[in-house]
This record gives sequence, C-alpha cells and structure tokens, in this order.
Amino acid sequence: MKIAIDGPAGAGKSSIAKLAAKELGFIYIDTGAMYRASALYAIENGIEICEKSFTKDVLDKIKIDIKYDEEGQRIILCGKDVSKRIRESDVSIGASNIAVIPAVRIKLVELQRELAEGNNVIMDGRDIGTYVLPDAELKIYLTASTDERANRRLKELREKGQTADFEQVKRDIEYRDKNDSEREFAPLRKAEDAVLVDSTGMTIDEVKNRILELAKEKM
Ligand code: C5P
Repeated sequence: MKIAIDGPAGAGKSSIAKLAAKELGFIYIDTGAMYRASALYAIENGIEICEKSFTKDVLDKIKIDIKYDEEGQRIILCGKDVSKRIRESDVSIGASNIAVIPAVRIKLVELQRELAEGNNVIMDGRDIGTYVLPDAELKIYLTASTDERANRRLKELREKGQTADFEQVKRDIEYRDKNDSEREFAPLRKAEDAVLVDSTGMTIDEVKNRILELAKEKM
C-alpha cells in the first residue's frame, strides 16, 4: 500500500508521516530531504543553482543514499551523513530553488519510485499524489494557515538552539510556497482524489489519528 502526503512547507507532513509510518509498520520516505541533499551538494561545491549547471555529469556525481536506523531516515550524500545539515535555512531555500529544475526532479523521482517499489510506504513531498505515485491508494493534502506553519517552524528551530525570527521564517515559507506552486514541472497542488486535511488548530496527535483513520478505511 502507498500513502502519499503532499502540502506546503511547514504543514507538519514529515512529523505526521513519521509517526503514522511507525504505527502502521510502513517505510517512511521523506522526498524533501533528497532535494535538500542535492542543494547541499551545490552549495558545498560552489555550483550555481540554475538549469544549465545540472548536466548529466554533475547529476551523476550527486550520490544520495537513504539509510534507516532507530532515529528514522538518514540521508547520506556522497558517503557523508548530512541529515542535520540539510535542515538549515540556506539549504531550505536552495532546495526550493533546485526543485524547479526538471533534470534534478527526474533523477530524484526515479530514486523515490525505486524506494517505494514493492513496499508499504508513506511518502511525503509536493508532487507525490500528482506525479511520483499517481496510483497511491491514499492521498492526503495536508495544509495549515501560513502563520501557524511559520510558528511551528519557529518553535522547531528554537528547540534546535537556532536563532530565528517569526517574520523571516514566514517570508521563507511564503517564498518556498510560491516557488513550489508556480513551477512548471510537477508543481505543488492537491491531487483531485486527495483528502484535504487542514491542520490549523489541531495537535500532532489529532492529525496523526485522522490519517490513521483514513489509512485503516483503505486497508
Ligand atoms: O519538504 P521539505 O521542506 O523538506 O522540502 C524542501 C524543498 O524541496 C521544498 O521547498 C520543495 O521546493 C522541494 N520539494 C519538492 N518536491 C518534493 C519534495 C520537496 O519540490 N516532492
């Protein structure tokens, strides 16, 4: 069974998907982490994030591996665990910029479909229900108001000991939403057959239970 969760930045997709995957015994696949790792590769190698930079040669050098341990999914970029570094703000913006490049998307979608093949998975991202796994048995479009999403992200950053300011976090989220929904190739949008879940004012547990309920109906 495949469960696709899409939605804008900071809607809580990965926290919810991780918890739901654990309860269902499914594999959780965080596709955003792959765009983030690709952006980190560009940042670390001084590659300008634009279409002409990502030739086949460059794309072949970006080696992304996914490992699973008790902490969940680890992202290995060219042999190095970058799971923490990819959560930083420069990488978030880089990921949103790199995600408009079709050649990058095609490479990552291939990897995502390979990981999903033959497994029970919950995959989250922006184009999972519309493009990566169009036959997913359950599709969820998870959203929340921009202010609520910015507040959640702010809390998360502060808990990690990073300094962050509400207006800046909100601007970053709005920038990424705009990039994601206006790009030509596989933009962020709700699949026609996706269930809309607006998590504004809901707790993580409430959203998780709603998703488990929907999953159980399908099972
Ligand atoms: O989900 P997360 O915030 O980690 O994703 C980082 C960026 O990767 C997003 O802002 C988006 O631009 C891009 N992304 C995407 N398609 C996906 C997952 C992420 O374009 N399936």
